[in-house]
Amino acid sequence: MQLSKLRGFRDLLGLDARLLGVIEARARQVARRHNVSEIRVPALERLNLYARSTGETSDIVEKQLYVVQRSSESLGGDDPVLRPEGTPGVVRAYIEAGLDRIDPEQRYFYCGPMFRYERPQKGRYREFYQFGVEFFGRADAAADAELIVMIDELRRELKLELNFEINSLGDARCRPALRGALLEWGRAHLPQLCQDCHQRLERNPLRLLDCKIDVKLTESAPKTVDYLCDECRAHFQTVCELLADAGVRYNINPRLVRGLDYYSRTAFEVVSAGVGAQSAIAAGGRYDGLVETLGGAAVAGTGFAIGVDRLALALDAARFEVRPDAALISLGDAALRAAMRLAGEMRIAGLCVESLSPERGLKAQLRRADKLKARFALIIGDDEIARDVVQLRDLKRSVQQEVSRAEVVNRIVADTATALGSPTEGP
Ligand code: ATP
Ligand code: MG
Repeated sequence: MQLSKLRGFRDLLGLDARLLGVIEARARQVARRHNVSEIRVPALERLNLYARSTGETSDIVEKQLYVVQRSSESLGGDDPVLRPEGTPGVVRAYIEAGLDRIDPEQRYFYCGPMFRYERPQKGRYREFYQFGVEFFGRADAAADAELIVMIDELRRELKLELNFEINSLGDARCRPALRGALLEWGRAHLPQLCQDCHQRLERNPLRLLDCKIDVKLTESAPKTVDYLCDECRAHFQTVCELLADAGVRYNINPRLVRGLDYYSRTAFEVVSAGVGAQSAIAAGGRYDGLVETLGGAAVAGTGFAIGVDRLALALDAARFEVRPDAALISLGDAALRAAMRLAGEMRIAGLCVESLSPERGLKAQLRRADKLKARFALIIGDDEIARDVVQLRDLKRSVQQEVSRAEVVNRIVADTATALGSPTEGP
């Protein structure tokens, strides 16, 4: 009997889990500052939801869905699937709550695991985490710009270099002309197109631009921005201006299209400046037709999703390692109680403290304190209690001194003050 985890799934222990937690906490703070509220939606949805929104011919729906089958029931559009992305579920919930009619302007963030059946590799897993934001009822370019600014704020807080690529895909009015031009171009270059592009050509010629195999060839393809109608062009220009005003450095990439069907106008991707194989960190764009497509009113929408795992890979993990400010060593029953009281006071002062097992002797407890990489060891025995003092051992400098019980908390707070403002002080 195999009990090990499934391929492409991960156990995240210690620092690996912490990195995701830190990113999520920072992202929540950014969302809060932008007055974006949380939405939690199910991890299981009907297959039809993604077929209709993400797109029946998208890789995500065609090849990557995890279908959850109960016993021997047959497969159908109503079958539950594990969510491969967040947007369709959020849109469904928004419509189901009736907001599209009663109170259409909403802004939500979501956070949680997504599931895609794809070939696992570094930065590509079958269960991964996304943090996403969706704005409803905002057709204006400022909404698109604000979303990108949010990612830039998170980037800055995490001290990362990321590149922003943006494009406009046009709307229902101007997209047909682009589609036609791409179709024509694709047919003219048929012999040179890769296997996937042969399929894309008839089903969704926009995706020809997304070919990763022959990037050189796609450079000669029609450019999205040359086909925009006046309104789409003005919208795109405003997005660009607002980003420049906000100090976001971006590139216009006229070949950027998204693998999902629902985008219109603004589309963007955020890629890590480092060279890693999976460099796409976040992606998003405008999806003005989606609420209607899923049975709601004609309400505009725009959003993004960040790949939290990939963002974590880009971080300098060592910066986020947790080191306790103090390890408390007690020798004897009375000392244990005194140590517990002291630990409580220290935690109220915001310090990170681990009380060590009183069943071990002094040497073993000191070894443990070293292993924890604690900044200080505080040693309390009967003699210290009697004299109202504590032995304060600086484990970094290997020096020990006696400090009065009344002063010890302030002393450690002062000595770790620089650490408190550092990024190791995560959530
Ligand atoms: P990719 O081109 O790398 O497959 P994608 O276009 O499929 O990415 P989106 O659907 O736009 O990705 O999802 C947004 C983000 O989620 C991506 O930019 C990436 O950071 C992350 N992501 C997508 N798929 C995975 C995965 N299998 N494992 C880890 N992160 C992922
Ligand atoms: Mg993908």
